Amino acid sequence: MKIFLILILSLLLTSISEAQIILVKNGKATGRIIADPKSRTDMQAAALLNLFVKKITGITLPVVSPGEKRVKGDLIIDSSSDLKSLVLAEDGFSLTSSDSTFLVKGGKGLGSVYGVVTLLEDYFGVHYYAANNCAIPHSRELKLPGNLSRTENPSFEFRQTQAYGLATDSLYKIWHRLKEPKEIFAGNYWVHTFDRILPSAKYGKDHPEYFSFINGIRRPGAASQWCLSNPDVFEIVCQKIDSIFKANPDRKMISISQNDGNNTNCSCEKCKAIDDEEGSPSGSIIRFLNKLAARFPDKEFSTLAYLFSVAPPKHVKPLPNVNIMLCDIDCYREVSLTENPSGKTFMKNMEGWAKISDNIFVWDYGINFDNYISPFPNFHILQTNMKLFRNNHATKHFSQIGGSQGGDFSELRSYVVSKLLWNVNCNVDSVIQSFLNGYYGKAAPFIYQYMKIQEGALLGSNIPLWIYDTPITHKTGMLNAPLIRRYRELFDNAEQSVASDSILLRHVWQQRLAIQYAELEIIRTNGIEDVNRTKEELALFQRRAKLLGVTSLNERNNTIEEYCKLYLERNFPALRKSLAHQAKVSYPLPPDKPYDKIADKAVTDGFLGGATFNESWIGWSGKDGEVVIDLGEIKEIESVQADFLHKLSAWILLPKSMSVATSTDNLNFITMGNQEIKEDRSVEVKYVNVGVNSHEKIKARYIKVHIETLGVCPSWHYGVGYPAWFFLDEVWVY
Ligand SMILES: [Zn+2]
Repeated sequence: MKIFLILILSLLLTSISEAQIILVKNGKATGRIIADPKSRTDMQAAALLNLFVKKITGITLPVVSPGEKRVKGDLIIDSSSDLKSLVLAEDGFSLTSSDSTFLVKGGKGLGSVYGVVTLLEDYFGVHYYAANNCAIPHSRELKLPGNLSRTENPSFEFRQTQAYGLATDSLYKIWHRLKEPKEIFAGNYWVHTFDRILPSAKYGKDHPEYFSFINGIRRPGAASQWCLSNPDVFEIVCQKIDSIFKANPDRKMISISQNDGNNTNCSCEKCKAIDDEEGSPSGSIIRFLNKLAARFPDKEFSTLAYLFSVAPPKHVKPLPNVNIMLCDIDCYREVSLTENPSGKTFMKNMEGWAKISDNIFVWDYGINFDNYISPFPNFHILQTNMKLFRNNHATKHFSQIGGSQGGDFSELRSYVVSKLLWNVNCNVDSVIQSFLNGYYGKAAPFIYQYMKIQEGALLGSNIPLWIYDTPITHKTGMLNAPLIRRYRELFDNAEQSVASDSILLRHVWQQRLAIQYAELEIIRTNGIEDVNRTKEELALFQRRAKLLGVTSLNERNNTIEEYCKLYLERNFPALRKSLAHQAKVSYPLPPDKPYDKIADKAVTDGFLGGATFNESWIGWSGKDGEVVIDLGEIKEIESVQADFLHKLSAWILLPKSMSVATSTDNLNFITMGNQEIKEDRSVEVKYVNVGVNSHEKIKARYIKVHIETLGVCPSWHYGVGYPAWFFLDEVWVY
């Protein structure tokens, strides 16, 4: 009797668990899609479903109106019900099956579309790995579980990331449930808007008092800020905002936010008094924003808490319609934000903001911006950090990850970040494994090992992972010689395992670029021993990048093509030998810390620096520099050349001029010549050669090179009013 009962129970259970809704059988439609033609979203969801049903089975399902009598196998797409608001947030959805029909219920926004995406992904096995790269199974049958009840709401209501797919593949954005700023911000005013709203070019000349008082004077400029305590500024800004909203009646949000520059806030008496009282320059910003928010109570105002304004004010609380766009740009990323000092400082600020606001937009950074292609193993910290953001009232989130083609794990990074933006509690390791298996095929285990070894080596090295460093930073850590050899082996194995599949092989090649690049960067700092081999490797790197369509090296518009050309020029110079090679140097006007450490050799060692200033370069901040080179004996000279770095993002500008004097006794110097240096406003990173030549040969033992500083950064630059750096890595004497 007992056995019989158990048998009946288990049969019952089996039949429940096997209950299914069959949409396609033997290549024929057995189900229908029910959707309301009056709902654009539901019709979009129905079209998306049918698009993939067709790709999977070769047929499409009939789409009928909700008025029709329901039959077995109906799949209902419905965003209309009022009840949904109780459980479904914006963009949320539920998937429910009962009585042999299936219901995709959507919340406000694109809920029903995202419900269909989940259905395609989790029940039909469609995976959208990257732009125009979608794995679609083929089958003559399509069915859905008959006992499903599942509800999903997004972890962040606004989900923004960077992936090249957004620009090149219209389905990519929908599939990964991403949004773009232009969808919510009026006139696409979404960040660094001060100069767009109150242009310094228009008002700066007649009204310098509208702009920041920095180091003793008013300094209007595109990277300067507003004098927020000036009542005229407030009124002009109100008028401008009013006209922007009138031109964009379907938007209710706008960003009123500082220009991109650090410490360029106004320090006039009135502004300074407010900021002193509030304990942070965010004080005058939030007071200004609150006044706007009160003037336009039905609108929402976003502002930055970024660089100088990242700390919250002590007293003033943002009004509910003030959104805080909080940026963690200064943090290191080898461990999560609670684990290192830079992160702890940020978290203290974030918790401070969370105490006074529940309207926070976190802007996070997740790639090396100076070298997109450089290894950036931060996958292990993403989930912890994003949970911290969410727990501290972030409802909107932008994960800035470069996302260009050829960037380190560009496709995987975009994929994982999108999954976390939707569900911060997802199983990241299984998301990664699933992606690797689909995107790299049989090479997946090697790529996974590569990732894990690199992650462990990074953590073991105690070297921070910074968004502006270079492979050279890690040459004694996660990119040391034995590890590079191990990575080479893994990529060799990965390539072999997919050698017969040209698409998978290209995916492996693309990721391998990161290690090829790291090797090229590191080898030049050690002195290139095997010149031919390095030249071959450079050529292979360039060829592969070209073949794969990988063009950009960083966010400063430098290209790989240009990098390779300069690599040859700078590391394999022509045979002309500098008379100053390995000569002794002294500094009547010495460089600044910490760059002075290598000053005794840097300018005559024959090594040229790269785009990041952490090797070979020495720098002076806001003052003139002077180097005296001792050639050891009197020699005949006719030309002195120096190599400078131009990198505006790091406040490294070209100096004003360079002059050269020569001497036989190091006491009496005779001027050889002077060279003015042209201003350059381009954001590209450049190496600039400056030379002083003589018509006739000069007899000299000591060469004095005097470099005249710009003093402070000019008004068009991010560092307006603050000391400008210049960097020098080599002086040649011929
Ligand atoms: Zn002021």
